[in-house]
Amino acid sequence: GYRKGGYHAARPGDRFAGGRFVAQRKLGWGNFSTVWLAYDTLLKRFVALKIQKSARDYAHAALHEIELLSAVAKGDPTNSKCVVQLLDHFKHSGPNGQHICLVTEFLGDSLLRLIRYNRNKGIGLSRVREICRSVLVGLDYLHRELGIIHTDLKPENVLLVSTINPSKDPVRSGFTPILERPVGNQYGGKVTSFSEKMLKIRARRAVAKISLRRVSLGGVGAEVEKERSLDGISMKCKIVDFGNACWADQRLAGEIQTREYRAPEVIIGSVYSYSADMWSFACMVFELATGDMLFAPKNCQGCNEDEDHLALMMETLGKMPKKIASSGTHSKVYFDRHGDLKRIRRLKFWPLERVLVERYNFTETDANGFADFLRPILDFTPENRPTAAECLKHAWLN
Ligand code: ADP
Ligand code: MG
Repeated sequence: GYRKGGYHAARPGDRFAGGRFVAQRKLGWGNFSTVWLAYDTLLKRFVALKIQKSARDYAHAALHEIELLSAVAKGDPTNSKCVVQLLDHFKHSGPNGQHICLVTEFLGDSLLRLIRYNRNKGIGLSRVREICRSVLVGLDYLHRELGIIHTDLKPENVLLVSTINPSKDPVRSGFTPILERPVGNQYGGKVTSFSEKMLKIRARRAVAKISLRRVSLGGVGAEVEKERSLDGISMKCKIVDFGNACWADQRLAGEIQTREYRAPEVIIGSVYSYSADMWSFACMVFELATGDMLFAPKNCQGCNEDEDHLALMMETLGKMPKKIASSGTHSKVYFDRHGDLKRIRRLKFWPLERVLVERYNFTETDANGFADFLRPILDFTPENRPTAAECLKHAWLN
């Protein structure tokens, strides 16, 4: 929380880096940081400011993120490879300690929000395709050119590219940056003054306009007659959040990825590589298309989340090859010597394309095409999974 070693409590109008960046509104947060929309008074543009928690471990993680994002920026001078661009970084001292801050280009809503705006019904296959192309370009760049494994690919960590650029067109976007902090307010104080309330309202309106919110609420939603308002809205997106990313040749052992997007080799404690990102990618794409997570494991009676997760995988994808099932440091905990789960005996096989038809009302053609794209990526054998570059060539995307 907002205490020593924790988050920095910023307010609209706060200045950073010797006054250059002015906080506008909070955009989001994660376990390690809060992220703000900020105005760069030097280059007269909006940016995102990630303010890391101050404790030493967080600072270390931020420095690591800076190292990786610097490599990302260096290898992509034209900023066309679908990974967020780092613009600057600095330290900021606040009442809770010293915070490392990352300045990146300002992006729009996350795919998680996009999924939610569509009331968990999926966003339509043509948009899914569009997003797949961007994410795969990003992954191909990270994997093949840089040697980076992201390790936490999920809808929250992929952001749409803002289509309205408020700094280029402030009149149309209706946004004038907040440059002053109202007088008489202290850190941690309640929002009481009229002027501060007005600032908050103004800032909120501004973000509603420059993010996809307005458009998606009116357009990406199910109402067909409003579909037209989406014309010209590109579904380009970028991969963000390199807080857990690693160089493939310096990978740390142990658990990576967010539960639902975790690859089987990670669960059983076997070696992982770039192909673990591909697994997460496939899980995310399924979710975009259906609005539901592909695998949502729970603790069940007599089994833990890992075992439930493995069972769910095998119900959709068939039995895990024995060689793979026995390859991890936890294999003996979950599998018997035949490669069957020890504690979950009866599995109901319901293959991917049938799930798409029977549960999500896909046409047979759509289901087959989509499953044909996803199934190879969900191969239990990591080396069999196609690379990002190979996925980009798949017929379903072309
Ligand atoms: P954490 O490592 O704490 O999870 P992230 O980098 O994932 O931090 O950022 C947290 C959230 O902040 C994101 O999910 C997103 O909603 C928002 N965010 C991050 N970067 C940007 C950006 N460049 N533009 C707009 N919003 C962003
Ligand atoms: Mg995150």
